[in-house]
Amino acid sequence: MTRITHHPSDALLLSHAAGRLPAGLALVVAVHLERCARCAAYAGALEAAGGLLLEETQPVPLQARALDQAMAALDAPAAETAKPAAWQGPPPLPQGQAWPSAVAGCQIAPWRWIGPGMHYSRVRLAGDDAVTVFLLRLAPGKYLPRHAHSGRELTQVLCGAFHDGRAQFHAGDFDAPGRGVQHLPVVQSAGECVCLTAVQGRLQFDAFYGRLLARLGGLG
Ligand SMILES: [Zn+2]
Repeated sequence: MTRITHHPSDALLLSHAAGRLPAGLALVVAVHLERCARCAAYAGALEAAGGLLLEETQPVPLQARALDQAMAALDAPAAETAKPAAWQGPPPLPQGQAWPSAVAGCQIAPWRWIGPGMHYSRVRLAGDDAVTVFLLRLAPGKYLPRHAHSGRELTQVLCGAFHDGRAQFHAGDFDAPGRGVQHLPVVQSAGECVCLTAVQGRLQFDAFYGRLLARLGGLG
């Protein structure tokens, strides 16, 4: 069983620093780094080390026409940019909570009611269909139905707290249960809990409610 540290693993931070994570997974790690000085310092050191490695590689000679092509591209009229859909901005968080800066470029859907005290919001970011990113806002005592996952599942707690039968997670904590781990996150009494989760592959729920949630989120 994977040790629960409440922080991203060294391997995950290394993949993030090297820019090798799919955007949805990288988003959850970036949100953690905003809240965790320890991981941010480590990630900064990894990125600096990566930069040194890049500097040591041989420079590739520029092709003769490359500069001309670059100048022509600068002169070309700007491409028609797609008009943004009528988006009202991110939905409200519980009182006193602010959205992390890392989600600034994402489209966050309005909260969708999925049951008493339970809301769901899909987070969309450019070009990452293989990873589903969503937010859950659950009242104390509510739980996400027991599930396992076929791929990676990364979660960052934005506020509140939950216990999933393995450990307690508080605001600022990170979790990455291994493939096949079955868990049932239950929100603790500290107030509403909001979590940002990115899932690679499919979640496998074992209850009707879970299948409903999966259908709402396109996860099932
Ligand atoms: Zn950390």
